[in-house]
Amino acid sequence: MAFWQLRFTVVAAFLAASFAFSAALAADTKRVLLLHSFGRDFKPWSEYARSIRTELDRQSPWKLEFLEHSLSSALSDDENPEGPFVEYLRTLFVKRPPDLIVSFGAPAAAFVQRRRQQLFATTPMVFTAVEQRRIQHSSLTDNDAVVAVAHDFPAIIENILRVLPDTKTVAVVIGESPNEKFWLGEMHRGFAPFADRISFIWYNDRPFVEILKHAGALPPHTAIYWHGMSLDAAGVVHEGETALSRLYATANAPIFTFDGSFFGREIVGGPMHSVLNLSRQTAAAAVRILGGEKAGELKIPASKFATPIFDWRQLQRWGISESRLPAGSEIMFRSPTVWEQYRAYILAVIAAILIQSALIFWLFYEQRRRQRAEILARNTMSELTQVNRMATVGQLSASIAHEVRQPLAGILANAQASLRWLEKANVEEVREGLKGIVSDGHRAGDIITNLRAMFKSDVQEKTRVDINKVVLSVLALARIDLHKHEIELQTQLDDRIPEILANQVQLQQVILNLVMNAIESMSSSQTRVLRIKTALSQTNTVHVSIEDTGMGIKESDLARLFQPMFTTKERGMGMGLSICHSIIETHGGRISASPRANGGSIFQFELPTVASKIKQPELV
Ligand code: ADP
Repeated sequence: MAFWQLRFTVVAAFLAASFAFSAALAADTKRVLLLHSFGRDFKPWSEYARSIRTELDRQSPWKLEFLEHSLSSALSDDENPEGPFVEYLRTLFVKRPPDLIVSFGAPAAAFVQRRRQQLFATTPMVFTAVEQRRIQHSSLTDNDAVVAVAHDFPAIIENILRVLPDTKTVAVVIGESPNEKFWLGEMHRGFAPFADRISFIWYNDRPFVEILKHAGALPPHTAIYWHGMSLDAAGVVHEGETALSRLYATANAPIFTFDGSFFGREIVGGPMHSVLNLSRQTAAAAVRILGGEKAGELKIPASKFATPIFDWRQLQRWGISESRLPAGSEIMFRSPTVWEQYRAYILAVIAAILIQSALIFWLFYEQRRRQRAEILARNTMSELTQVNRMATVGQLSASIAHEVRQPLAGILANAQASLRWLEKANVEEVREGLKGIVSDGHRAGDIITNLRAMFKSDVQEKTRVDINKVVLSVLALARIDLHKHEIELQTQLDDRIPEILANQVQLQQVILNLVMNAIESMSSSQTRVLRIKTALSQTNTVHVSIEDTGMGIKESDLARLFQPMFTTKERGMGMGLSICHSIIETHGGRISASPRANGGSIFQFELPTVASKIKQPELV
């Protein structure tokens, strides 16, 4: 085969395939003519048309082609303009008639019924969004299906009286188009049973501007019934949604209606037709017809008012309690509660408050725990202090026993000598002997007084104390020990020192601890000197130092010396210095230790005098 022949065959095959595909596509697409009663923007039909189109698209298994036309002649009583419109439609669909016609509203339904033979005699048809009274049932053909609604005028007034029982007047808004005139008559009949309770104002014969003015000054206990406004008494056509919006803006009474297509801003609510329900019914019927079912055989009962719905904003505006609404009513457009709106914030704040409360609670708990621990520690410290004191004094027991024995021996010797002198009637000698007895008695008494003080339980009371006397009382107890260990005692006590406010027993304990440690540290020293100095510093504080020539302190131990349990002794407890530290601190003073230049160590502490305490503010 020549190349051009081959090319021709391929192109021809491709064209044939394309034609076959388009034909199949055309056969698969259904043409639906949507016939509107008025323009495409007249409520309620415009809402139904939009919703039915959406539903049809959703339910149809075929691709749908919508062709929309409006019967503009419906606004007048004159049938003549219909002629050219019929011609126009015939010409439009002469080649391929629609697969289905859907008419919206009574005027479109009436038009098709009138012109059925001239137009599409055999094309199936669905009459929808039309009240059942507006269909001429006698002239319905086998190709006609009806999806109608049934208005219930008494139900509308009953609803108004139910939610606003004080209503005395109902102003009825309706226009002057032929369709509206029909409904005016029906309404008069439907509202008649309420004539004894309610007076009706009929707005049909007023221009819309006048209606607006009147509706703005209605007497109290009036409700407005909105049936629609296609054409007013002045011949003005009201397309779109502006008429109801304008009425709402000026009216001083709540507005009710019969159809859900008007609901959404201005209308209070009640039982109404549901756009969605009817659209679903219509689309279902249309799909069945497009699928081959005979339109005339579909018997669909007229839809009644759906479950009442109410606009929450209007209920608020007119003070209508929800308890007045019929059972099962649905409330729409409810403003979210503060909780719904700010749930996240509220939860965050609550969480923050809870966390904060928990923290505060925890802090309180911790503070209480600390306080309790402090009390416990104080008590323990106090017990420890006493134990330490007794242990230290215990160390001195042999010396003390000796110390007491000495004056007793003196007393005994003096008493015996005095007895001998008495026999010789040597009065002067006897007097001396008795004086010695008294002095020894005092000495023994002093030792016992000091000892008793040291064994007293730890009281916190502070008295005026002479620090030099405290030093001497301690040395009196330690005297024998010093002697036993062959320690040379050097004292340098400043007699200018004023009395200080302190706990005498505790100060004795501090000095005794330091002296005993010094004695212990010198046990294996060649030179054994204990030097105790007291002095009044320039800043008016009492300064006490205890210096020994013992083994000294290692540099590394200096920082830990005053810590509890620090000891370098085999049988030491490591509590003495830490107790000294705590006693001096509670007296507002300071204690420190340092190695001595030529071996040994120096422990020193400072205590504030009463004068230094008073002077303190001046120094600051
Ligand atoms: P303890 O005497 O039971 O060990 P202390 O708290 O009184 O407890 O003393 C702690 C430590 O401080 C002692 O073990 C010792 O190492 C050291 N220390 C105390 N006083 C002196 C001193 N005068 N010379 C050298 N070291 C000392």
